[in-house]
Amino acid sequence: MTLINGKEVAEIIKGELKHKVDQFTSRGERPPHLAAVLIGKNPASLAYVNNKVKSCSQCGFRSTLIQKDPDISESDLLKLVAELNEDQDIDGFIVQLPLPHHINEQKIILAIDPNKDVDGFHPINFGKMAQGLPCYLPATPYGITLLLEHYNIETSGKHVVVVGRSNIVGTPISILLSRKGRGGDATVTLVHSRTKNINEFIRMGDIVVAAIGIPEFIKEAMIKPGAVVIDVGINRVEDSGQATGYRLTGDVDFNNVAAKCSFITPVPGGVGPMTVVSLMMNTFQAYSRKHNL
Ligand code: NAD
Repeated sequence: MTLINGKEVAEIIKGELKHKVDQFTSRGERPPHLAAVLIGKNPASLAYVNNKVKSCSQCGFRSTLIQKDPDISESDLLKLVAELNEDQDIDGFIVQLPLPHHINEQKIILAIDPNKDVDGFHPINFGKMAQGLPCYLPATPYGITLLLEHYNIETSGKHVVVVGRSNIVGTPISILLSRKGRGGDATVTLVHSRTKNINEFIRMGDIVVAAIGIPEFIKEAMIKPGAVVIDVGINRVEDSGQATGYRLTGDVDFNNVAAKCSFITPVPGGVGPMTVVSLMMNTFQAYSRKHNL
């Protein structure tokens, strides 16, 4: 079994980005600039955003963190999005989800200029992705494809079972892996909460992508021997043995599943770091496009 080291791959890609950015800045160009909007103080969201800001500095990017109170009105947030759309100094920006209940997330996503939508959540980017056109790929699915590529894991002709059908992970990764061409060409089955006999489908997977949000949902008996298992889940479970009172666990029962796999991602240190690095890749793409580099 090979442990897929997302942290290591992410460091390599960040180093490559930094090298490219240094070349541009040494010629007098300004660096890429990512803005992140964080509403409220949800600890998980704060940790994700801080990670993104840290990654920007590792890549030589500029970053701006805009923090707003949780009671910000939807119209004020839309105004902020409009300002960021217009700001020529910012190449791309993200609005960290989830948003407070009084704000319609879809409305906010739709207001983001697709050219600055480096999270790849806007339907224009989603539609382009589905048709194989140049676009910003959604960060987590993009990160998964980069990991598979780095470890030379063949997808062509393989049966991929994706568990979960969210707009940000399950649905887009099922599209990306079934698309024609390199890194795709898989036969994909998408299973979800309404799937009957779900275990039987998962057991058929040469590659299983788990994006459910239920700790250790995928058990050893559901996995075909030699399968590749990509665990997207990030779940906080209580653990009095930790100083924080919790630990992070994936959607896969790692301790019992790992030995049965050919490749598996750990949580943390698997898909998570790749999501952040994909955001950096998209920001660099936005910067390059804007500067015709
Ligand atoms: P979501 O809640 O939007 O979607 C979960 C999906 O799982 C749904 O489509 C649902 O149909 C399916 N599901 C729920 N219960 C099920 C069941 N009993 N059987 C089968 N399917 C079931 O979640 P999401 O945003 O896709 O996130 C999924 C997990 O991935 C979460 O733990 C989240 O924190 C994590 N996540 C990680 C990253 C990363 O960078 N590693 C990024 C995004 C999300």
